Amino acid sequence: MDVKAAYRTDSLNSSSTTPYSAARPPHSIYTQSVGGATVIAGGGPAGLTAAYELTKSGFPCVVLESEASLVGGISRTDTYKGYRFDIGGHRFFSKNDEVNRLWNEILGDQFLKRPRLSRIYYNRKFFDYPLKPVDAFLKLGPVCSATILLSYFKARIKPIKPERSFEDWVVNRFGRKLFQTFFKAYTEKVWGMPTTEISADWAAQRIKGLSLINAVTSVLFKPFRKAGKGAVIKTLIDEFHYPKFGPGQMWEAARDKVREGGNRVDHDSRVARVEHDGNRVTAFVSRDSNGNETQHMGRNFISTLPLRTLVKIMDPPAPAEVQAAADALKYRDFLTVVLIADQVETFPDTWIYVHDPEVKLGRVQNFKNWSPYMVPDASKSSLGLEYFCFEGDGLWRMSDQELIELGKKEIGQIGLVDPSKVVDGCVVRMPKAYPVYDDEYQKNVEIIRNWLARLENFQVAGRNGMHKYNNQDHSMMTAFLAARNIMGQGPFDPWCVNTDAEYHEEKAVDQTAADTAGRAVPRKLSTAE
Ligand SMILES: Cc1cc2nc3c(=O)[nH]c(=O)nc-3n(C[C@H](O)[C@H](O)[C@H](O)COP(=O)(O)OP(=O)(O)OC[C@H]3O[C@@H](n4cnc5c(N)ncnc54)[C@H](O)[C@@H]3O)c2cc1C
Repeated sequence: MDVKAAYRTDSLNSSSTTPYSAARPPHSIYTQSVGGATVIAGGGPAGLTAAYELTKSGFPCVVLESEASLVGGISRTDTYKGYRFDIGGHRFFSKNDEVNRLWNEILGDQFLKRPRLSRIYYNRKFFDYPLKPVDAFLKLGPVCSATILLSYFKARIKPIKPERSFEDWVVNRFGRKLFQTFFKAYTEKVWGMPTTEISADWAAQRIKGLSLINAVTSVLFKPFRKAGKGAVIKTLIDEFHYPKFGPGQMWEAARDKVREGGNRVDHDSRVARVEHDGNRVTAFVSRDSNGNETQHMGRNFISTLPLRTLVKIMDPPAPAEVQAAADALKYRDFLTVVLIADQVETFPDTWIYVHDPEVKLGRVQNFKNWSPYMVPDASKSSLGLEYFCFEGDGLWRMSDQELIELGKKEIGQIGLVDPSKVVDGCVVRMPKAYPVYDDEYQKNVEIIRNWLARLENFQVAGRNGMHKYNNQDHSMMTAFLAARNIMGQGPFDPWCVNTDAEYHEEKAVDQTAADTAGRAVPRKLSTAE
């Protein structure tokens, strides 16, 4: 199909004076657009992957992205005075060949292979990550190491029963002392809930196959082990791919290729309504920052918007039960304080996990070590201080200046950078960074999913689009399947991607289950458990 020709035909029919709902702002311009095409909400990895695949096969599509100029969603690259930075640090790592093929196809030689060094900061010391027993024991000292061993044996002799919480699970396998040293503070910072309230099955997925004894033996006997079926777990991915100018470069290039292929990626186009007749979606209505609305008619529709948002913008509204399920979906939010230091080098790591409970800081990214091209001036360094929070909580509501001051104080407190060397900074807030898996989320997602299933030309894809704790690769895989369904290569069920949770740090040498692997997130214990 000639994509450009399809647009020409559509644009001839593109004006309409059809009145719209009373909710429409009075000054809006109302136009129709893009009949016959696929309309995609969201220009993150999922939305752009779907658009890229459709474009390559000659199918017309349009991507509606709310941001004025950025694409990539949570995987975007932001810029401040020429300093480029991620929302988190985005490693490009996948077990899926199609994903790797697509990344290489889009970026070619701009896709760098980077060495990784990441350590844990705790009690004024830096520990290798993943933990190496000899390194840990040397740094903890003989007294603390002896206490760890004693508490380990105590836990083995008298394990906690029943094993209900994350805390129980880890204590039973590592002992209480090691749990308090390396697990408790960081887990609580990330998820904003006590480890006694996080369910044990999350720990089982996240740290599966590990105990103090097999951690020690795996290090001691590693050189003698052979890669065999399921025998060896590579817990440290010590190299990863990364675009020269940050993850956003990947998605900017994808956007450009979609456009070169004759399709559209519209910025400043927030999808404000999803019009449907109960059986089919008839249009996405986007609204720009001036309040002008555009109705995008299409044949097929894909949404990568957060499920909670999607349900709230259905027109006519979703039934009360579906709305209640959407309202009950929760998210963990995230902010990055970027500090620019007048120092050529700060520390050798790509990132550091900050386990110390004395500071609110959860992780520090050293963007220059991700790629030297992330800084415009090689005499300076830029750091991303990551704070996990809830939208509207104390941290979230602090002013940018207050957050920069907090960041300077904490980075000085843990001895990484002298605050007087910090010459500038900025703050980026990322709402809905993590979909929360609480006791009710599966039931709620199911209710929403069942209701959406009646819309025969409509699919959801992506991380928040499916309320799944997906990395880019799994977000993209859901989009591949959605696009293939539209291209008549299906039927595929995008919901089947990422059914078997597996921790991202691990790449099993036995790859038989490779395509189903995903990421695990903690589930909150119900009071009844
Ligand atoms: C701290 C952190 C670190 C991470 N690290 C990694 C990593 O190392 N490696 C990795 O592979 N993955 C990582 N991830 C996961 C990765 O960011 C996501 O999997 C990926 O970005 C999800 O893509 P998506 O397209 O589904 O959603 P998103 O990235 O959320 O994109 C959704 C898009 O939709 C747009 N949008 C939202 N509402 C509307 C609307 N109403 N109308 C129009 N557009 C709208 C948004 O602006 C955005 O562009 C990390 C995530 C976090 C939070």
